[in-house]
Amino acid sequence: MQLYIGIDDTDSKKRLCTTYLAAVLGERLAAFSSVQETRLVRLNPNIPWKTRGNGAVCLKIETRDLPRAKSETLKAVEDFSDLDEEGTNPGVVFYRGVEPERFESFYYRALREVVTTADAEELAEKNGCEIHRWKNGRGVIGALAAIGADLGEHTFEFIAYRRPEYWGKVRRIDSDSVRAMDRATRPMTFNNVDPETSQILVAPSSPCPVLYGIRGKTPESVEQASKMIGAGEPIERTALFKTNQGTDAHLVSCSIVDAKPESSVIVCGHVSAAPKTLAGGHVIFSISEDGDSIDCAAYEPTGGFRKVVKKLREGDVVKVYGGVRKTRNLTVNLEKLEVVLLQKYIEEKNPICHGCGRSMESAGRGQGYRCKRCRTTAGSKEFIQVTRELKQGLYTVPPRAMRHLSKPVG
Ligand code: ATP
Repeated sequence: MQLYIGIDDTDSKKRLCTTYLAAVLGERLAAFSSVQETRLVRLNPNIPWKTRGNGAVCLKIETRDLPRAKSETLKAVEDFSDLDEEGTNPGVVFYRGVEPERFESFYYRALREVVTTADAEELAEKNGCEIHRWKNGRGVIGALAAIGADLGEHTFEFIAYRRPEYWGKVRRIDSDSVRAMDRATRPMTFNNVDPETSQILVAPSSPCPVLYGIRGKTPESVEQASKMIGAGEPIERTALFKTNQGTDAHLVSCSIVDAKPESSVIVCGHVSAAPKTLAGGHVIFSISEDGDSIDCAAYEPTGGFRKVVKKLREGDVVKVYGGVRKTRNLTVNLEKLEVVLLQKYIEEKNPICHGCGRSMESAGRGQGYRCKRCRTTAGSKEFIQVTRELKQGLYTVPPRAMRHLSKPVG
């Protein structure tokens, strides 16, 4: 019998990780069932109450002992949830059917909008799912969305976990081994190292049970890459997840007027207010289209990406990619920037002397220009097209500032 098990909202910033729970549960279920797929599904990255990366999990199993599969799941949630933390509200959904696509449109809503627990429960109940909730049960949203996730486009993440006695202690990972792995396996793996800072990105900084996670395009590429990592502590267990990370699944093309807070958009427009650098190093500009405008921000953590943004000038046509936030104005928090068309700029300059190559001086009002040295003259200023330092194309924030869902460029 086929069973989909969706789980979410079990961890806190201080302890545990829903993927760890899935890894342990997968092993327990494998003792009497066939675990066909373990998914890590990232949902709306703009949700204010997420713990970290708004991830939910789903295990797809074939089992001959349905009651035991369910009780093992509920026991694992009891064992590996940080229920004492205020913001931890676990939810589990069991779906026994063979049409998880019934929940696909809900997945897309949970990926791109803000949905309610009541929405999730109503849909789950209508389709014969069994729901379990702890505290306010908000995890039911992610649990159902993970069952319905459309992973037509997908990547993989191979995660190595620490033994409990190491949780919260400094991770000892040989950085050079990660850099060598990155050189050997990129682009089949991605976001291992930040090219701007050489910072290692495979290890989280939180006290969770993850030692490292390697993201890549195939199961083989991430498993092979993992063998190249030098770890200074024992690995308790590993797990392979099929995921929507690195696919841009959260982004929706729309016009400026339809960009809503907490959604993630791709909008096109012309630069209507040139980039300004604010205190703290954040760079802000505005784009407009059909009389509507929206602010776009490249925040300080986006590092060298801001240098590209600063080269924009009024009139340039761009596509901006990112999450929409309502602060004072609606603002797109930039994940990517596509420079579609560069505005031509003409600058007036004093003429150049053909003799010595220097700039001529004014010869007096209405008298034209002259070169004092060579005694050459010219009647009027020259109009020169400004060479733009920026090129058309797609630019992305550095991997250290990237969202889990963002597709790496290249
Ligand atoms: P981690 O990545 O460590 O698992 P997290 O960042 O996934 O943590 P959660 O603890 O899972 O954070 O909390 C996110 C909560 O938000 C969950 O309860 C989930 O069901 C809910 N949620 C997810 N997507 C949406 C959405 N689109 N609208 C409303 N709630 C959502």
